[in-house]
Amino acid sequence: MQTRIIDGNAIARETRAALRTRVDALRASGHPPGLAVVLIGEHPASRIYVRNKTRACEETGVRSRQVDLPADTTQAQLLDQIERLNADPEIHGILVQLPLPSGISAERVVEAIAPEKDVDGFHPCNMGLLAMGRPRFVPCTPAGVMRILEHEGVPVEGKRAVVVGRSNIVGKPMAFLLLQSGATVTVCHSKTPDLGEVTRQAEVLVVAAGKPNLVKGSAVKAGAVVIDVGINRVAGGQLAGDVDARTVAGIASHLTPVPGGVGPMTIAMLLVNTVLAAERTIGR
Ligand code: NAD
Repeated sequence: MQTRIIDGNAIARETRAALRTRVDALRASGHPPGLAVVLIGEHPASRIYVRNKTRACEETGVRSRQVDLPADTTQAQLLDQIERLNADPEIHGILVQLPLPSGISAERVVEAIAPEKDVDGFHPCNMGLLAMGRPRFVPCTPAGVMRILEHEGVPVEGKRAVVVGRSNIVGKPMAFLLLQSGATVTVCHSKTPDLGEVTRQAEVLVVAAGKPNLVKGSAVKAGAVVIDVGINRVAGGQLAGDVDARTVAGIASHLTPVPGGVGPMTIAMLLVNTVLAAERTIGR
């Protein structure tokens, strides 16, 4: 079987282009959408992510404000900063780049962000709404995966979907979204005894484990749609996904590459959420 390699960069470009008219309308009404990205310390990968997010904002006409805080910032100082951004009418979305330095509780920080500015969708209120099928913001990576499936014309309703990974930022919200789209969903994790036995049943397989090349061709059903969320830095500095693309090619009907698959969609969906947040403040 010929495996279609999904071009996440192209879908992200289309998603950003489709936002332009909404951004222009917000600007024309005097409410340009604004995203604040808070970065603490000198984590090199975080710097790259933040730079990519800032660039995508500029391209789309979303105002971005980078708030750089030193590595020795205390939790109280960070919470203070978040309070100021919560109260700032020019800021519609707030994102605190993870990971945080030790000594700062990510949970406490996420809970401090006003739920209506929580464009990452990680606040417990927003996770609860998502679980109930009434999302305020859908976390960006799972939202990006759903957008990819929609773009590729992959029907989800009635399908057997398997999610590998149960994190709060990817696996769990991914499972909720697939469930709400009518799939029969199984979630696997590090304690699942025979992973391949479960993944082989998947017609839609989403892998977000953070383990390079975890899923091989022998664990994939012929004709499955395989979405590789993993981004792993491997020997030689290259990036590898959680799916062994070499052995899965020829078995899956569709596969997202790493890089260039889900990654660019995560940033595009962050912009979608920021625009949505800005539209809500003016009652659109
Ligand atoms: P995490 O470490 O929080 O969670 C990993 C999950 O995978 C856990 O639930 C764990 O139980 C499960 N797992 C680990 N080993 C497993 C195994 N051998 N078999 C089955 N399940 C296993 O990670 P995360 O934040 O959810 O991220 C997962 C991956 O996705 C990472 O590589 C991360 O870099 C990547 N990621 C990519 C994007 C993107 O934009 N493409 C966004 C977020 C995360």
